[in-house]
Amino acid sequence: MPVTIHPTADVSPQAKIGEGTRIWHQAQVREGARIGRDCVIGKNVYIDRDVTIGNQVKLQNNVSVYHGVQIEDGVFVGPHVCFTNDKWPRAINPDGSLKGDADWKVSETCVRYGASIGAGAVILPGVTIGRFAMVAAGAVVTRDVPDHGLAMGVPARLNGFVCTCGHVAHELERLSDHIILVCPACGERLSISLQEKSIP
Ligand SMILES: [Zn+2]
Repeated sequence: MPVTIHPTADVSPQAKIGEGTRIWHQAQVREGARIGRDCVIGKNVYIDRDVTIGNQVKLQNNVSVYHGVQIEDGVFVGPHVCFTNDKWPRAINPDGSLKGDADWKVSETCVRYGASIGAGAVILPGVTIGRFAMVAAGAVVTRDVPDHGLAMGVPARLNGFVCTCGHVAHELERLSDHIILVCPACGERLSISLQEKSIP
């Protein structure tokens, strides 16, 4: 499958794009970015320098993925989602001089396999969104989301767990270090380990 790049998209010759990937109107892909195969990069998406994106990822219109963010295979990112990468953002130094590229530290953010992020969510620097986790539309994610976790609100809180199929799973049993769940839609059983660093 060939790569499809709309004539209005701005894709750096130093970016790597996997086969079958489609890049739509006015999207910008910076130097050093690596995008896997069979991805859909929507209108006006911005992919910063050296960002890594896996295979079969969907980035909907107006998503911004900044330097320091890694997106694994099969991730869905809804329209207008913004990833941030500076924990202490300032335009100027305390002496009033303009900050340059060397005056701040990037925090690494990772979105794991199969996770989904709803429209308009904001992902703060340095968090990990677990495998098949789901972030609700408009959430502001400030801490890690566990595998299959459903994160909602501002700041985002854990509001249950979702199945691999995307439906909310029901809790069957809660043990000291993990939870057993079952999905009412597809019947899948899940065993989720509880992670201390995650959102409450
Ligand atoms: Zn299910």
